[in-house]
Amino acid sequence: MHVSIRLAVIGGSRAYDLLAEGDLPEGQLAPVETPFGRSSPLGTLRLGGHEVLFLSRHGLGGYRVGAPFVNYRANIYALKDAGADRIIAWSGPGAIDPSFVPGQYVIPDDLVDETRGRASSFYEGTGLGLLRQDPVFCPAIAAALATAASGSGISVTEGAAYVCTQGPRLETPAEIRKYGLAGGQLVGMTLAPEVFLARELEMCYAALCYVTNYAEGVREAPPRPEVLFQGLADEQDQATVEAAVRGLACVMERAVEALAETPRCCPCAESMKRYKLQGDIGEDWREWVRPPL
Ligand SMILES: [Zn+2]
Repeated sequence: MHVSIRLAVIGGSRAYDLLAEGDLPEGQLAPVETPFGRSSPLGTLRLGGHEVLFLSRHGLGGYRVGAPFVNYRANIYALKDAGADRIIAWSGPGAIDPSFVPGQYVIPDDLVDETRGRASSFYEGTGLGLLRQDPVFCPAIAAALATAASGSGISVTEGAAYVCTQGPRLETPAEIRKYGLAGGQLVGMTLAPEVFLARELEMCYAALCYVTNYAEGVREAPPRPEVLFQGLADEQDQATVEAAVRGLACVMERAVEALAETPRCCPCAESMKRYKLQGDIGEDWREWVRPPL
């Protein structure tokens, strides 16, 4: 698949539901085979009058593939291969910082990677990949998301440190306290290594988060084994979380409209410049990566 589609949306939990229920325009999604294995379902959608790539991170359904088992390398490779150079993602983390409330939109600007054992680089066995991570997320995409949210009448908080844990289990109270002491404000399981892989292939990447619950120990949360997160998510908050999920399509549409009109003017496109200047790599990014043997 080699088409010229420059913008991509990675849909998180509920992506497929939004498609199925018509909140996002229906599109045909199918996994793509890559040198790094099979990607999550990928296709194209019309958003804001523009054709964009759309990838349902957790598969065909609400949450068929858990965060630790997503093939992040295949996903980023497939999007790059299909022509994308800018990625907007969404994710539904919990709040470590009690000033955040369920249903709130937050655009993270920093990240603590607490994942373990995920394939997190395209450059295994090479000398490539010494890439700076400040800013972690593309500032241009983050700004477009903020403008899109506020233009939709939705309040959004710009800037937060997202802690990415391995999962699939949720975090212990002591882990949450540790992350909080380290400056973590949100905790989720998906943005790493996604954001780092995008930078390795000189792609822009930023995420819009909607807070789904308070993290363990932040608020009293009696056990309820029969429901999602086993009682960690407050039932009373579910309506606001649901409204935030429903609002995602509108924000994505506005962000796509804004970005489609704006040329790239951020440093993301030059992350591998030193290696090119040194002659370590050429212009064809497919020759940079080292697929597993
Ligand atoms: Zn960028």
